[in-house]
Parts: sequence; structure tokens; C-alpha cells
Amino acid sequence: MRVSILASGSGGNACVVESGRTRVLVDAGLSAREIERRLTARGMEPDTIRGVFVTHEHNDHSSGALVFSQRWECPIFTTAGTAVAIGLEGNLFSPFVRIDASREGRIGDLGFRAFATPHDANESVAYAFEGDGARLVVASDLGRAEEDFVEFLSEATALLLEFNHDEDMLRDGPYTWPLKQRISGGWGHLSNRQSAEAVRRAAGRRLQRVVATHLSRTNNVPPLALAALCEALDRAECQAIAGVADQILGFETFDA
Ligand SMILES: [Zn+2]
Ligand SMILES: [Zn+2]
Repeated sequence: MRVSILASGSGGNACVVESGRTRVLVDAGLSAREIERRLTARGMEPDTIRGVFVTHEHNDHSSGALVFSQRWECPIFTTAGTAVAIGLEGNLFSPFVRIDASREGRIGDLGFRAFATPHDANESVAYAFEGDGARLVVASDLGRAEEDFVEFLSEATALLLEFNHDEDMLRDGPYTWPLKQRISGGWGHLSNRQSAEAVRRAAGRRLQRVVATHLSRTNNVPPLALAALCEALDRAECQAIAGVADQILGFETFDA
């Protein structure tokens, strides 16, 4: 399985997952043109994308989804709640494949499963993909990591997991009090500490790679996220390679 993060953060999220002859996009939070440009720059033609998986309706995950799907005639895979929120219902031009959390599905050589996430969105999910003996979990935008979520992560060979904010930076930073409450609350975003704790609990023998994603540019810095992640892997005695995705550069293509 190959994984290519095109962008990561509140300025836009998109990543490519492929196994065998099947290539899909997970989130399309940049303009369709920008996604096409970034695909081409990495040697992938937009017309090879078989589907666009959308985690939830927030702009940084969905803004280019409809246009991309229509232009390249590939269906959008998402929950009924997200479909309504992004205007897919009654839209004759973007085919839509409904996803139910916890039910398994398949597109070509990729198996997938969704997990319902606690977030201030209509019906947000994280996704697990399986192919070539690998299992990749893509999870961001959730307010807390409970036991069933840790279980969802636990068989992964690769994890793309939100490390949104450093708790001290958020507390002392420039955001308004209500916004700080929203981000740190149970329907907001995972902090470095929360995500590191989830990794520590979930890290299994199969885990090869963890990439910290969706870092806040105001309330986090890559060295803090990476330090929290590495400490968690150390404590779990896991040898997985750790990395941090960048808003603009994304993350180098790797084999999961
Ligand atoms: Zn987001
Ligand atoms: Zn969100």
C-alpha cells in the first residue's frame, strides 16, 4: 500500500491511498485544481483516482470534493450525514456511495471501514484501509480517543493521526476563550498529549509508521508533536518510524 499526503492542517487536507491497481483520495480540502496540480507533481494522473473518501463536511476536508468528483467522474464515499452537509443529496452529477460506520466495504483492491468520530460535524468518520497485507488508519478531527477508537487503531501497520495542538500553547495562545473551549473539548481536536496516549495504547507489533497530521499553525509546532509521538512509541517499545506532515508540503510518499 502506498500513501501520499498532499496537504495536512486546517488550511486543507488531502491524501492518496493506493493498493494494487486501486487509487483513492482521502479528503479533498483544497480546490480541485490544486489537488490535480499536487497529484501531477507526484506523478499521479487525476483520472486514475477511483473515489474520493470524505471524512466530514468542514471546508478543510471537503472544499474540492464535488468539483473533483464531477470532473474526473469518480464517486464520493461518505456517510449520509456528511453527504447532506456537503450538498450531495439530490446532486445528479456527483455519484455518492454511502458509508456506514463499522461496516466493511471494498473498492477494487482496497478494503475499507469507517469509524464514527466525536467531532462538531454532522456524521464524521475516520477510515481504515486494507490491501497488500497492510492496514492504514487515517484519523483526524476528533475531540477524544476512547477505548473503541484505540481498538480501531490497534491493528494498523501505518497511522495518520491528528496531533492538533499543544495544550499549553492553546491555553496561552491568541484564540478566544470559546474557540479554545471548542478545540480542547470532547467534540473538537486531539492534543499532542491525547494522541500520544492513544498511540502508546494502540501501538502493536505490526505498526511500522506513524505520521502526526493536522497540526495547528497557531497552537503547535512540529518538534513538540514529534517529541510526544516518539516518547509514546518508546514507552510502547515500538520501532515504528515517526514523522510530521506539513500544511503545504504534506508528507513524502511512503509504503505502508
Ligand atoms: Zn480539519
Ligand atoms: Zn473538522
